[in-house]
Amino acid sequence: MRDRMSVLVVGAGFTGAVIARLLAGAGHDVVVIDERDHVAGNCHTARDSETGVMLHVYGPHIFHTDDEKVWQFINRHCDMMPYRHQVKARVGGKVYAMPINLHTINQFFGKAMSPREARAFIESLSEGGTEDPQSFEAQGLRFVGRDIYEAFFHGYTLKQWGVSPDRLPASILKRLPLRFTYDDNYFFHRYQGIPRDGYTAAVASILAHPKITLQLSTSFEQVTRTGFDHVVYTGPLDRYFNHALGRLSYRTLRFEREVAEAPYQGTAVMNYCDADVPCTRITEHMYFAPWEAAQFRRSVIYREYSAQAGPDDIPYYPVRLLDDKVLLERYVARAEQTPGVTFAGRLGSYAYLDMDVAIRRAFDVARHLKDAFAADTPPRAFVHRD
Ligand code: FAD
Ligand code: UDP
Repeated sequence: MRDRMSVLVVGAGFTGAVIARLLAGAGHDVVVIDERDHVAGNCHTARDSETGVMLHVYGPHIFHTDDEKVWQFINRHCDMMPYRHQVKARVGGKVYAMPINLHTINQFFGKAMSPREARAFIESLSEGGTEDPQSFEAQGLRFVGRDIYEAFFHGYTLKQWGVSPDRLPASILKRLPLRFTYDDNYFFHRYQGIPRDGYTAAVASILAHPKITLQLSTSFEQVTRTGFDHVVYTGPLDRYFNHALGRLSYRTLRFEREVAEAPYQGTAVMNYCDADVPCTRITEHMYFAPWEAAQFRRSVIYREYSAQAGPDDIPYYPVRLLDDKVLLERYVARAEQTPGVTFAGRLGSYAYLDMDVAIRRAFDVARHLKDAFAADTPPRAFVHRD
């Protein structure tokens, strides 16, 4: 057995940073590269030079989890500030609370129902019988009935995913709660927060270890693997294989920035659910840091648009339609026969992963690698399947 392995980690997002840190902590030498000029991947935050507002550069990120170990880990690397995500949704010129809760239901139907009455009422609107719904649309009709589904979910989902909701899996809608109380917390996890100094500082802290060398603005395609005992690759799975079997499809996002007098919309996220409004949502970034929001006289807003990702676009959301899943299986089969490389993270496993899940999986990958290195067995390729 060799005590010190030399490992190349491709990608300095949460996945790459956490794996690097755990391997470095076990005595291995780690080089982390990222083709961007910053760490933290899509969770990157930066102070806006014009206004001083902390920007969530690749879209809004709220840390939420039930995982005690993950929560303890992230709290060792940042000052996690209390934050409670509350989203507003515009439908036909009116503003409602999202996720759907008792306030939304009463407002939408112009009633004053109690929790029990609202539950019975929504159940009476439910369509689709007793079978477990497979598609997003079937799930929506079952979940809240046609009126609410069409107002809040159909148009938004068409814009966000670019395909009819009857082709999308029910699992996408299952991410959202439905509440018969006035609780409008977007998440149901025990812990929720946003790092005081942003996510980039948190990831920089994870990477700050004497056995980690960081090289930014460096792509995998530019470096030589000679001298490394193992590679952990957190970039897109199909890109590793030069898209030899075809491209896995992704949605990309475009953000249209505007600086306006503060406050602009008075909340962090306003969803635009109508299909005829082109943007999906507007984010007002100073509200992701409520502890400092009052100090700004000018506010930065992003109008967010979603589109099918082309070859030069940033891949944000894996689409995971049936064709993609078939292609994914073929790439996973190749990955499993690629010695010396472990594929991880949301791009490496082509899965939608929240930050806490990305960190939890990074713990698993690092443990697997440490065990394999210690036993002197070649680590088996490690690609999570969902
Ligand atoms: P990434 O952050 O994508 O990092 C991968 C890194 O690899 C990137 O920096 C990339 O530049 C680099 N890379 C790729 N290929 C190469 C290559 N060939 N050479 C060199 N470098 C390469 N999660 C939450 O928990 N809460 C939220 O509120 C939330 N909101 C989100 C909003 C949006 C719009 C999106 C898209 C995601 C959101 N997420 C959220 C998910 C979150 O972004 C992911 O969990 C997290 O980014 C996963 O980290 P990762 O390291 O696996 O991937
Ligand atoms: N969604 C919607 N209307 C909304 C909010 C969400 O139709 O106002 C749908 C949309 O398809 C989205 C899914 O519910 O992708 C899950 O919501 P979540 O907030 O998890 O969205 P994401 O993380 O995909 O942006």
